Amino acid sequence: MMNSHLIKIIRRYKQWTHKYFYSTQVLGSNNVDKIRNIGILAHIDAGKTTTTERMLFFAGSIKQMGEVHDGNTVTDFMSQERERGITIRSAAVTFSWRKHQVNLVDTPGHIDFTMEVEQTLNVLDGAVIVLDGSAGVEAQTVTVWQQSLRYKIPKIVFVNKMDRKDADLMMSCNSLVEKMRVKPVCLQMPLIHDKKLIGVIDVLTMEKLTWEQGKMRRSVIGNDCPKTLQSVKEARAKVVDTVSGCDDELASKIIESESLDNAPTPLVVNAIRRATISEKIIPVFCGSAYKNIGIEPLLDAVIMYLPSPKETKQYFQHFGENLCARAFKIVHDKQRGPVTFFRIYSGNFSKGQKTYNIQKNLTEQTGKVMVTFADEYKEVESLGVGNIAAITGLKHSTTGDMITSSATAAQAAKKLMGSKDGSVDINDMFSKGPKVPEAVFFCSVEPPSLSQQAALETALTQLQREDPSLRVNHDPDTNQIILGGMGELHLEIIKDRLLKEYKVEATLGKLQISYREAPLDKATCDITTETKIGNNKHFVSISLSIIPKQNEDDEKVILILDRTSEAASNIACILPKHLVAVRHGIIVGLMHGPKIGYQVMNCQIMLHMLNVVKGTTDFAIEATATQCVQKLLKQAKTSILEPIMLLEIICQEAHVPSIMGDLSKKRAAIRNVSIRSCGSKVITSEVPLSELFGYSTSLRIITSGTATFTMEFLEYRALSLIEENKVIEKIRGF
Ligand code: GDP
Ligand code: MG
Repeated sequence: MMNSHLIKIIRRYKQWTHKYFYSTQVLGSNNVDKIRNIGILAHIDAGKTTTTERMLFFAGSIKQMGEVHDGNTVTDFMSQERERGITIRSAAVTFSWRKHQVNLVDTPGHIDFTMEVEQTLNVLDGAVIVLDGSAGVEAQTVTVWQQSLRYKIPKIVFVNKMDRKDADLMMSCNSLVEKMRVKPVCLQMPLIHDKKLIGVIDVLTMEKLTWEQGKMRRSVIGNDCPKTLQSVKEARAKVVDTVSGCDDELASKIIESESLDNAPTPLVVNAIRRATISEKIIPVFCGSAYKNIGIEPLLDAVIMYLPSPKETKQYFQHFGENLCARAFKIVHDKQRGPVTFFRIYSGNFSKGQKTYNIQKNLTEQTGKVMVTFADEYKEVESLGVGNIAAITGLKHSTTGDMITSSATAAQAAKKLMGSKDGSVDINDMFSKGPKVPEAVFFCSVEPPSLSQQAALETALTQLQREDPSLRVNHDPDTNQIILGGMGELHLEIIKDRLLKEYKVEATLGKLQISYREAPLDKATCDITTETKIGNNKHFVSISLSIIPKQNEDDEKVILILDRTSEAASNIACILPKHLVAVRHGIIVGLMHGPKIGYQVMNCQIMLHMLNVVKGTTDFAIEATATQCVQKLLKQAKTSILEPIMLLEIICQEAHVPSIMGDLSKKRAAIRNVSIRSCGSKVITSEVPLSELFGYSTSLRIITSGTATFTMEFLEYRALSLIEENKVIEKIRGF
């Protein structure tokens, strides 16, 4: 159905798209204000894929559409379409719209890929949030929205599916106010004729936008529709009122003219742009991606209201003319090898150029510089500031790394930042990578035969470079490789990719929950180790304390130094490389808690004193620190923490009691039960992950398959004594 539908659109838009034919030329550094780096974020099924597809079609790659018209078969078209889908999913795609260049960076929808969403957000200048008009703000919308706040990304909202009978623009706007606590500004209204959506109303210009035979038509709302005219006038006055409340420039103009009604549209548009970019308001648009209603005005809105690279991420100016870019995605291409996607914040990225990786402290040679146009890579000589570049030949850069042209350039930028009034945190700028979420599940992985062990390890190293939320550890006790991931699906997909992309038929062990341990008390411990190997004497004396902490901070500072006057003279004399060794030792020591051998969290280690004799190796220092931490943990005693998930179930009202009954057996805490516009219920609860194994099956049985759910990691929480004993029994087997 989709297929014939798409072909129809292509036919309709053929002539129209000719006008927007794009060349492979990307915009240069004097046109940075014409670039938009955007992402589309949504809850599953809100219509992200459909909206993205329509945007690409309307912005149009002539070559592709031409091929269809040259009589290429439907299947051909489909396979290409699918391939392009993968390209988009894998990274970014560039297209032109009204002489602007839009770099659309794809974000995966499933919650198991939160890590990818974070990586992407890091490089976006703006985002389009797609809502299902019959559901409003949903669980995942809240998650991505909150993630976007971390990166200060201005947003516009597209309320999709307005063709549905139960769609409700007001409800969707209200859900933005209630759940996101933002100021939505409705710039469109649905245009309904005979109970059918035929277009949208542009509130600012007070025009009807209708689509006939695939062409968008603008027409003024005449006096023959007095009711519509009146409601649009009121809506416009409301927009002007809200926006002038957030924008002094517009406010003073309104005061001058003493009326809300006649504010000139360009003035209002500029004010909306300023208020959107400063994240004071959220412009809201509506339509139906599926019915091709509202896409062109949405693209216009991207250009009009979302910022260009010039208007954001200003702090990168310290690099001057030098290259500064951040890697946000690595894709393994069969022909090209690893392709690293970079967002360029300053300077130019040129073919064959030497780059310096700030986080890894190493120099690497760039291969090709490419841009993704629709479904293919195009090679270019160089790419300028504000752009997204696909680079080949880099072997060491991983997602989140920052690169510049040379170590000298990095030093210069660091110095420049330091000399500023302290408003920028240098370390933050040099280390602010994406936040890697906790791996709540883990399992062992084994190759089909020993001869494939090396292939498996190489494949996992590559997969991990692409996806830092995949943890790969080696368990020295069992000599197995242990994978940690975000969910059942995440690890299943890794297994699938091992087979499809690397031809390794790996077996995954039983999926297990990643518990944690946390110290109950403060403790202090001193130890001294003395060994003699050959003629070398190794002597380490160390004093450490463990301090329990309630909340794990974003930036985890594990090692802190004792700043009291007694400790000061010793601390001041410690060599930096010895501190690094101590830190390593602490990390290893915290890897296995004393109770069930799981990772220890919610604590900091304070170093009071370190004495070493000359000739002692770093390894001896590390080992002593590890030993000391292990002693501390035994002294302080630990409790077991388990991952708690936020579970959102959408179901029919009749099933609420049985679902709630089932949840009550799962140690769930119900947050709330709310009603949706279409009459279904939303149950939001906090449930321990251990209770949710196979939940999709049990929910299907309870509701005869009519309910859906989403879950995401919320936090680690301490177990009750009874539950703790059960876990210990299960893990130890007695
Ligand atoms: P995604 O999961 O956010 O990528 O959503 P999709 O684009 O895959 O859409 C999910 C479902 O909603 C598909 O069956 C679409 O055909 C349907 N859909 C998308 N847009 C619309 C729309 O505007 N109106 C209606 N009625 N259905 C839509
Ligand atoms: Mg999709």
